[in-house]
Amino acid sequence: MKQTLRLGRVAGFAVGVHWSVLVIMVLLAQSLATGVLPARAPGTAAPVAWPLGAAGAVLFLVSLLAHELAHALVARHFGVRVQQVTLWLLGGMAEFRDEPPSARADLLMAGAGPLTSVAAGVGFGSAAVLLSAVRGPVAVVVVLLWLAMINLILAGFNLLPGAPLDGGRILRAALWWRHGDRARAALTAARAGHVLGLTLVLAGLAELMVFGMLDGVWTTLVGWFLVVAAAAEGTAARSAGGAQRRQPRTGVGR
Ligand SMILES: [Zn+2]
Repeated sequence: MKQTLRLGRVAGFAVGVHWSVLVIMVLLAQSLATGVLPARAPGTAAPVAWPLGAAGAVLFLVSLLAHELAHALVARHFGVRVQQVTLWLLGGMAEFRDEPPSARADLLMAGAGPLTSVAAGVGFGSAAVLLSAVRGPVAVVVVLLWLAMINLILAGFNLLPGAPLDGGRILRAALWWRHGDRARAALTAARAGHVLGLTLVLAGLAELMVFGMLDGVWTTLVGWFLVVAAAAEGTAARSAGGAQRRQPRTGVGR
């Protein structure tokens, strides 16, 4: 993924954003300022709602970055080289130069991201409860609750069992551990990702056509991305499987 804007190095990793992340920022800030806040904290004036919406969008991106950095930190712990960490339209992406050295490393690298999102969700939720208890501004409590919810949704979605989602990597690690064949495990996880992606595409199209909901476009887009990414993972797994039989394996980037 080409980084449009480099943010610098965080914990030694090259962190950057793709221009498409701006789309997300604007959509999230707008949804907060014109949808969530007016509904949950009626009476919030626009000059307050928009900065709060923007702050919510920025904090969401920060939690997304924390999710990716967690993957990268655990990867480094296991000696896996991290190419870069990028935020883009459909979330974050930590790119590695090597494959995990063991099923255990694979499992921990994959699990670290969703675990961080759950921790962020609990953190934002606790902050909302505390602020509410001391009768803090309702609009801020609403934004904190929204951040808690969106982080928990992020964790839940990423745990769906299909590569390249974290849940797919966890599935791969489990199969690798059980059968001792990494390439075969990766292929199964990629196939699961393909089915998951197609299901999301169909669900998105149904949403769009039957209910006329614009959210359907999003679901279709995410599904299509999964189908394409799962196909790439499948190809990498097949070539890695072939290489494994011929010679000691070299890493395949993901
Ligand atoms: Zn992740």
